[in-house]
Amino acid sequence: MLETLLINALFLIFPIMIYLIFIEDHKNQFNHIVVFFSVISMVLCMLFPVKLEVGYIVDLRYIPFAVLALYGGYKKVFPLYIVLNVVRFFIGGDGVIESFLYSTVFFLIVPLLSKKFNRMGPKQRVVAATSIAVLNVCIYLSQVFYLYKGKLHIFRWLAIDSILTTATGMLFVVLLCEKIRSNIESRKMYVHSEKLEVLSELSASIAHEIRNPLTVTNGFLQLLKGSKSLSPEEKAYIDYSLDELQRAESIVSDFLAYSKPQSIHMVTGDFKEDIEYVGNIMKPYANTHRVKIQTRFSNTLQKDYDQNQLRQCLLNLYKNGIEAMKETGGILSIDVFERKKQIIIQIGDTGIGMTEEEIEQLGDPYYSTKKEGTGLGMLMVYSIVHSLKGKIDVKSKKGKGTTFRLIIPV
Ligand code: ADP
Ligand code: MG
Repeated sequence: MLETLLINALFLIFPIMIYLIFIEDHKNQFNHIVVFFSVISMVLCMLFPVKLEVGYIVDLRYIPFAVLALYGGYKKVFPLYIVLNVVRFFIGGDGVIESFLYSTVFFLIVPLLSKKFNRMGPKQRVVAATSIAVLNVCIYLSQVFYLYKGKLHIFRWLAIDSILTTATGMLFVVLLCEKIRSNIESRKMYVHSEKLEVLSELSASIAHEIRNPLTVTNGFLQLLKGSKSLSPEEKAYIDYSLDELQRAESIVSDFLAYSKPQSIHMVTGDFKEDIEYVGNIMKPYANTHRVKIQTRFSNTLQKDYDQNQLRQCLLNLYKNGIEAMKETGGILSIDVFERKKQIIIQIGDTGIGMTEEEIEQLGDPYYSTKKEGTGLGMLMVYSIVHSLKGKIDVKSKKGKGTTFRLIIPV
């Protein structure tokens, strides 16, 4: 039994290893290659099942099947469903039809849970996946139960062995998957905070130095503009220069925002005041772009935070949302609510949306798709939420709209 068990463990790790070694760093977490190797893993599990001592066999085919169904949903698990039945057909013997029916039910039900599953925390996911695996064996066992009616003690061992094997197998696989997931995430976080660190040091030293000459130039140009001997054309040139200076100055201020915080104003509150404040400030801007701001507020939790920073962060998000609806107009919906010791601020627009690649680049310094953009707004949003120990979830569909969800622990 031990030998076959070990071989099966190897089959199960196989797709995970391939993933770790070859595709971990690529953006698409659920590559076709993972699906392909999961198919192989499942077929191997079917061809070389674990032989229990009582002469019965358990095979772990439903482990790769369930893992892909839960993490990937219908699309990813479909090839496994097909291959499972084709291979089962060629293995032949009794129960081909039953197996087909059972796998069909499994295929229809389990991926249904995928969305919910992916929203759970890592621990819950481990428990959920293991329970599904155990439930699956139990259903299977209940089918073979009547075969063993006369030999209850054999059945008992069979049941214990197969449940243990499956549960351990599943636990093992899901724990590995979760560990990989969290490693990828913490590495991303690390790279991101490293970037912020560098930027904040650089900006602190440079932005200050640049601001003074900008202000001086601005002053002299203003003086020059007052001169009577200038032709209208020359005055227009000065206006252009002043506009551009203004722009340079706003970029520098954006930069300064991350360097040392300029004025810290710590308060304790539920964010209501800030949501109202920013909503009022942005109203004229929204009106000119035919955007309606809709706010819903139901949070009662309190948090210590720097008011200036939070307002800046909201301002940037509102601004981006409105800018995304520039052409069409639309609704900017703000929703603030609480969930298990977390304050959730949700900012949704019905604008141009983003592709997966664009979402990946959010928060990179200077990443902007706008003609006049600085690409610093989102960077600031990320750094502020980071300093509140929070998280940002982005959901977006090209052409449909974007929802930013700030999850801030209390
Ligand atoms: P900027 O607004 O100056 O371009 P940001 O850092 O604020 O810089 O945003 C970076 C980029 O992220 C934008 O240029 C845009 O492409 C994208 N983006 C941000 N928010 C949204 C949104 N709500 N809808 C669509 N795209 C967005
Ligand atoms: Mg912006």
